[in-house]
Amino acid sequence: MKCAGPIEVRDLDESCINIDPIQVGGRLTPEAMKAVIAYGDGYSICDHCRKPFRLDFIKTPPVDVFFRDLADFLHMDVARVVPGARRGFQAVADTYVQKGDPVLITALSHYTEVLAVEGRGGILREIPKTPENTLTADAASEKIEAVIRETGKAPSLLFLDHVDYQYGNLHPVKEITKVAHQYDIPVLVNGAYTVGIMEVDGRDIGADFVVGSGHKSMAAPAPSGVLAATSERAAEVFRTTSVKTDVTSRTFGIKEVEMMGCTLMGVTLVGMMASFPRVRERVKRWDQELAHSSLVVDALKSIEGTRIRSEYPRKHTLTRVDTTGSFDEVAKTHKKRGYFLSSALKARGIAGTIPGATKVWKFNTYGMTRAQAGYVADSLAEIAVENGLRVG
Ligand SMILES: *Cc1c(COP(=O)(O)O)cnc(C)c1O
Repeated sequence: MKCAGPIEVRDLDESCINIDPIQVGGRLTPEAMKAVIAYGDGYSICDHCRKPFRLDFIKTPPVDVFFRDLADFLHMDVARVVPGARRGFQAVADTYVQKGDPVLITALSHYTEVLAVEGRGGILREIPKTPENTLTADAASEKIEAVIRETGKAPSLLFLDHVDYQYGNLHPVKEITKVAHQYDIPVLVNGAYTVGIMEVDGRDIGADFVVGSGHKSMAAPAPSGVLAATSERAAEVFRTTSVKTDVTSRTFGIKEVEMMGCTLMGVTLVGMMASFPRVRERVKRWDQELAHSSLVVDALKSIEGTRIRSEYPRKHTLTRVDTTGSFDEVAKTHKKRGYFLSSALKARGIAGTIPGATKVWKFNTYGMTRAQAGYVADSLAEIAVENGLRVG
């Protein structure tokens, strides 16, 4: 079946159990799917836009209420929607980073944080990770001091991943923001892997900014995301235009410079809004998600030669596993080589692994039922046994 011409219908999440780390938290709710159909046309959110002509003032549908709900949800003062977490990073970097400014990221930072700083001509410095792949307040403090010695000034911004994309490890954000604030460094907490799947209290963890990704973790269409700020920082990052043009003497009301006036104009915003009631509820069931993840992680651990590279016990459903000593040994002699694993999983209806990968790989159990998690766990053990690996 085709959507049109060469475009296939996509049914991956209907026909398989998907374990792709980046996809599982962004799958739409039924409500968002309806919104996608109703608000698919271009500037559909603009039907009822009236003075002062800004997204967060629209009442039909209630975008104004949604923005306040989003801020409350994250325990922050002000929230705006952005086209992806990366555009949230960019808005903050554009506000605080001048050419030549040192900016702190971490050894586990996402490339989009790097690009946001690079675009401003900032000097990137990384807080190193421990051998256990976590970040610590001590490492942050030492790095800040090192940057001051090197450049003569404190970093103008710190990007801190709440849960990182490499290991899915949960970092001591609250302790690190406390250190940064001793140097008056604003902290952007990157919640791309947390906002919308687990509870995030921006005030408690001391965030100046909390950024989330709609399409990664909030059951929303891409590109969507949220940038939330304290009221103090909101005045800076959400500053309004003050320009008057020279020939026509035009001014532009209360358009926000970093938001380019308006951001999400239809399907992305309304999809996010339609999923939000369920998203707000689902974060309370995180323990259940972790229990499901344990079933799969423990099955992998029971395969001789397999190592879990993420912190253990797991505090997130994204896990990095090293099967160099197990599945990769099988790959050396298997007629399908490294492809045997993804193809054995696919044959059992499990999708979302990288074809050919048998050494170090990642999976995410988010959104599975208990039965599905049990099935994935059993399938991995079965594939191991079928290929002569010992399962203890
Ligand atoms: C996926 C991801 C991003 C990018 O999110 P977008 O919403 O696609 O811009 C940023 N940071 C981390 C840690 C991520 O995992």
